[in-house]
This record gives sequence, structure tokens and C-alpha cells, in this order.
Amino acid sequence: MNADLEALIHLQETHHKITALTHRIETEIPEHIAVVENELRVVSDAVDTSRSTIEQTEAARVRLEHELRLAEDKLEKYKTSLMQVKTNEEYRAALNEIDYMNRARTELESSILELMEDSETRREQLKTLEAEFAVEDDKIRADRKVHEDERDELIAERKGLEAEVTTITESLPDSYLRVFRRIAAVRGGVALAEAANGVCVACNVVLRAAVYQQVRRNERIIPCDSCGRVLYHRAAKQNGAEEAPAPVVQKVGTPATSQGE
Ligand SMILES: [Zn+2]
Repeated sequence: MNADLEALIHLQETHHKITALTHRIETEIPEHIAVVENELRVVSDAVDTSRSTIEQTEAARVRLEHELRLAEDKLEKYKTSLMQVKTNEEYRAALNEIDYMNRARTELESSILELMEDSETRREQLKTLEAEFAVEDDKIRADRKVHEDERDELIAERKGLEAEVTTITESLPDSYLRVFRRIAAVRGGVALAEAANGVCVACNVVLRAAVYQQVRRNERIIPCDSCGRVLYHRAAKQNGAEEAPAPVVQKVGTPATSQGE
């Protein structure tokens, strides 16, 4: 094979690797981290809600205890005034007041008790939630670390590939490079297409027999009549009947027919 054509294929493959790494680095990993952080936020929100409910319950209990003290004070006053009444009417009125305040006090006491029990239950729930949060938090921290480490490794790997691209492009003749860039710009970054079984693998057009014969020699740049990509041919495997696969174009994952041919 023509060494420049070989280098062009290498350049294309390296570009594909860089694209895949970039997708992992800039999209998949950040999305994954966002998802797990969101899961943690759900637990953390539940903890916050539980805490603030307990605070509200406590505040309500403090208010009722204050009311209870006022009620008890009043009760004492009414009891004192009971001793000082002059008429039966005043006596009955004072007794009514005492009766009313007694009932109010009982109600307050039972409400306070309910709130205390409620607080107790909620504190138990909070403990469970906090334990759950601690477990989740550890898990997610570890998971995030794994993904951040992976991202750092991939960034380093990508740097290596970018250096490789520089080396290849410096070694290529300008004419090859211009062709590559021109086609890549209009064909979604895919400037090369394998020709296999007489067909351009990228756009599925059947190549003219003479063209295919030339492509099989891999001696120079031959564009596909239909999609314009530079065609190349890989020799069939010795032991397999089928022609070699097309690793360069098929990795992109976009159906050739949708690329505007
Ligand atoms: Zn084509």
C-alpha cells in the first residue's frame, strides 16, 4: 500500500479514537457524575426535610408549653379568686373558669405529649436517613473518584493521540492533507471509506469495476464517485472467506445513507 494512503487511514482512525474519547470525557462521564450526584441529593433533601420537620415540631412543643404555663398561672389566679368571691353568681362563674382552664390544661398536656412522641419517631427516622446518606455519600464519592480518574487517564490518552495526529499530518504531503480536510469538513469528520466487495462501505454505492480495481491497488487517492470519500481497500483475511471489515467508517455509528449523499 502507498505509505501516504496508509498514513491517511491511520490519521482517520486516530481522529475516530479522539472523537470517541472526547465523547466519553465531555459527555458520558459528566452525565454519569450528574446522575449519581442527583441520587445523593434526593437522600440529602430527605435528611433536610426530616430535620426541619423535627425543628418545627420542637418549636410547636415550646409554644404549647408556654401556653400551658399561662394556663396554670390563670388556674392559680382563679383558685385564689374563688376564696374571695362574695356572691353565689361570682362563685359559679369562678368555678366555670376553673373548669374551662382545667380542660384547656389537659388538652395542652396531651398535645405536648403527642408532639414529644412525634419528635421521638421522627428522630429515629432521621437516624435511619442519616445512615443511608452516609452510605450513599461514601459510595458516590468512590464512584466519582473512579470516573474522575478514568477521565484523567482518557485526557492523557487523548493528548497522546493528538500528538500522533500532529506527527502524521507533518509526514503527509500537503495534497493528501488538503483532500483529507476538505472531505472531512463536509462528511462529518469521515474522509475515508473502505471499499469492500465492490461497494463504498460509507455510502453503499456500487463502484465501477475499473475504479474498484484501482482502489484495490491502494496506490493513490481515488475518491468515491458518490460520497467523495477517499477509498481504500483492505486485503481479505487469509483464512476467512469474507473481505476484511471496515473499522474506519463503521465505527462512526451513523448510517451512511443519512450523511447527505
Ligand atoms: Zn462513497
